[in-house]
Amino acid sequence: MSEVILVTGGGRGIGAATARLAARRGYAVCVNYAQAAGPAEALVEEIRGHGGQAFAHRADVAREDEVEGLFDAIDREFGRLTALVNNAGLTGPISRLDEAEGEVLRNVVAVNVLGVLYCARAAVRRMSTRHGGRGGAIVNLSSGAASLGSPGEYVWYAATKGAVDSLTLGLAKEVGGAGIRVNAVAPGMIATEIHAAGGDAGRLERIGNAVPIGRPGTAEEVAEPILWLLSEEARYTTGTVLRVAGGR
Ligand code: NAP
Repeated sequence: MSEVILVTGGGRGIGAATARLAARRGYAVCVNYAQAAGPAEALVEEIRGHGGQAFAHRADVAREDEVEGLFDAIDREFGRLTALVNNAGLTGPISRLDEAEGEVLRNVVAVNVLGVLYCARAAVRRMSTRHGGRGGAIVNLSSGAASLGSPGEYVWYAATKGAVDSLTLGLAKEVGGAGIRVNAVAPGMIATEIHAAGGDAGRLERIGNAVPIGRPGTAEEVAEPILWLLSEEARYTTGTVLRVAGGR
């Protein structure tokens, strides 16, 4: 039986690198996206072109009904999910907290925290041996920001990633006896569009070159530890946050 993975926000950045690598490792892949259908569909075509199985599905992870629709689509297309990567996330525009719009705060918390909870819940309902599932593994995208705090940039984003760390630990303990492992990866400065989307395209070079390893990371360098955490090689690893930040 083939492994079935959902990568939320899988059309671009770290999510796309993860979806691509998962397909290469033999997973049937659902590439979720919120708005950018083009890159998600192109990735699906690429995976199929290499003989893999994939489909794209639009859903806003902050919307409970759309998350349910996403998981139902996977049930229909591939059968029971065995791996989830809660990757979808955003920072909102860079600013101090006292200058931030309420709508930005609400949206970032909704996507980065509620989205992870909705997807993790739907995954547990399918993976848990308590629900007749065959187990599985979840990896959540945290951030180095959770422990740095991101002052002057996006303290609300850092706070959502702190929440991701807590729910990773709690859920790992809750479902450890039901065949499910739950871990997180906390990337540092990774070369994706997230920095320009936050309004500071130069951030990556400015800060990235100052990390101890001497350069920003690539999306592939985050995808590899994610796939390791999902794999049999990590079978005794759960409830941990693996920092992938070049020493930052
Ligand atoms: P990115 O290139 O900006 O891509 C973000 C992805 O999230 C896109 O695929 C986007 O979908 C999706 N997304 C956003 N809102 C969504 C929603 N409401 N529902 C479903 N999908 C949604 O970001 P990235 O740098 O790859 O980041 C991926 C994850 O890693 C995030 O959780 C981020 O916080 C975390 N992270 C990144 C860095 C870094 O330096 N890059 C560092 C630490 C942590 P569309 O394509 O449809 O817009």
